[in-house]
Amino acid sequence: MRYPSVLMVCGALTFMLAGCNTDGQAEPKEPTTQSSTVNQPQTEPNESESLQENSSTVDEGIDEDMPPVHQRPQFAESRNHTSTSGSAVDIEIDGMANLELDTLIFVNKEIALPIDYEPSDLVRANIDFVDSATGERQLLRGEAARAIEGLMLGAKVDGIDLKGTSAYRSYAYQVNLFNAYVERDGKEKAMKYSAPPGHSEHQTGLAIDVSSASVNYQLTQSLGETVEGKWLAEHAHEYGFIIRYQKAFEDETGYMYEPWHLRYIGVQHAKRVFESNQPFDRYIKEYMK
Ligand SMILES: [Zn+2]
Repeated sequence: MRYPSVLMVCGALTFMLAGCNTDGQAEPKEPTTQSSTVNQPQTEPNESESLQENSSTVDEGIDEDMPPVHQRPQFAESRNHTSTSGSAVDIEIDGMANLELDTLIFVNKEIALPIDYEPSDLVRANIDFVDSATGERQLLRGEAARAIEGLMLGAKVDGIDLKGTSAYRSYAYQVNLFNAYVERDGKEKAMKYSAPPGHSEHQTGLAIDVSSASVNYQLTQSLGETVEGKWLAEHAHEYGFIIRYQKAFEDETGYMYEPWHLRYIGVQHAKRVFESNQPFDRYIKEYMK
């Protein structure tokens, strides 16, 4: 289904909204320069993590070519995909994510979720969260919530301390978040470390940021060098998660390395992605061929 004119209008309106509506939102923390190698933008205005100068790591990245988005697409042409050699399935339709992919739903800087997309099975993940992770940020889709609970238990058994810092983010929340950064740093700079609404994996209810005391629960690239970060990289797939934005695949994902950002895709697929050492972007395109 194609409806470019409607999408263009919606995209334009949304872009205007993202750039203008800053009323009533929380103020993001001021940047700090306390760490040398950590290049971590804080993605939550209310969290304690800091956005550091010379940031090169972003949670939800820039989208300078933001497509017209935010119209719920129709998937009349979608097919069920049952095997790696099955019939082709679109991962996107006119720049909109194919929601029928369920836990394999794919969003990136070009492919967006509809403005009104909210998973119907969001539940609170029963894990430890940092204090600032309140409300909807403790939510995940049921399957992902159970998986992160299993991961946290497994981590604990191995003596690994981790907490969730942010899970689900609604479109509206991302609007406020993005606008807070625009307000603080200006749009050009904000676009380098924060995604416009609709392009965040957190809106899928399948992504969660985690961190550890060893890095003061910040979202920082140095997490990847800690025992906790290494444990995540080694074991996340056993619970159905992947480290979505890998250092080796920055060009393909379009995002800087984010050792804290876990994306749930199910154990079977996570294992394949892990063992084949490829980005989800490449895996999903091949898988859906
Ligand atoms: Zn994230």
